[in-house]
Amino acid sequence: MNICANCFNDEEIKQFIVASSTTITECDCCGQESEAIELSELSDFFVEFLRLFIKDDNGYDLIQLIKQDWNIFSSDACAQTILSSIIADENLGFTIEDKVTYSSEIQECFSIWERLKSEVREEKRYFSDLGSFNWEGYIKSNARIKKGTALYRARITPEGRKKLTTKEMGCPPKERATAGRANPLGIPYLYLCNEIETTYYEVRAVYLDRINIGRFRILRDLNIVDFSNKINLFYAYSGAESNEDLQEIVKRKILFDKISTDLSKPLRRFDTEIEYVPTQLICEYCKQNGADGIRFNSSLHQGGTNVVLFNSIDAKCTRVLTHEIKNVKIESCPL
Ligand SMILES: [Zn+2]
Repeated sequence: MNICANCFNDEEIKQFIVASSTTITECDCCGQESEAIELSELSDFFVEFLRLFIKDDNGYDLIQLIKQDWNIFSSDACAQTILSSIIADENLGFTIEDKVTYSSEIQECFSIWERLKSEVREEKRYFSDLGSFNWEGYIKSNARIKKGTALYRARITPEGRKKLTTKEMGCPPKERATAGRANPLGIPYLYLCNEIETTYYEVRAVYLDRINIGRFRILRDLNIVDFSNKINLFYAYSGAESNEDLQEIVKRKILFDKISTDLSKPLRRFDTEIEYVPTQLICEYCKQNGADGIRFNSSLHQGGTNVVLFNSIDAKCTRVLTHEIKNVKIESCPL
């Protein structure tokens, strides 16, 4: 079966197809006239990937699970055609119609996070045995923020003020530092966003709010643990520097997604500070292991990312801009 780059969303697979193709032909999967290759050229990758799933009647639709976690295919129809063809040739223990879940080794890795969350909320807190979770291999600095990078932080303009000073845009003093998802009570961290637009959402700005936006400059190269890390599975599998097996890559990505989701959960009125303990603990673990901060996806602004710096002196507010919210778009879905 011939497949083409249009069948995929995954940039690395697209590039691989374009680079490997020697012919332009009609794709047997999506029907477009394009550079195509035989599916067999990708089958080693797909077979190894599909071996990470097991049949589970209480699990998920394979196509939907792969779409949600990996976004490999350009449409459900392409996923259906390609995966059916691979599954038909291999003995994987499930068919395309079966419900599946990740293998028990992978589930074990992310269930550890769930166990740790309940342990530090309900059983013991300050002497949790993180060592027994065997996380050293996963939670370590994996990205850098270069000196000179610009990041942003917003504050809603207080009554009677026009513009805040650069000093007022930093984190609050220790005695006024309330607990957040990343920082414990009394230990302030600096919460920043990668883009100005994300700051509007993070401060929950509403129509006609006036906000001050601080532009921060990073003062030295920083090592961070990037929980928003967009791991490209095909690149990790086939890339020149690849020395990890697919299962390890999948474990890390799923664990990071879960932690990132918890880090970015919006605070709700009825939340108690106990809710924050697990993510505070993870941050302290990162800090203890030499990281200068963390990065994670914003749940309030799709596509936006947040950065938390453990030492506020690593960034300096160089400018304050004032904006007014002119338009708010509200979306809903039927219940
Ligand atoms: Zn195609």
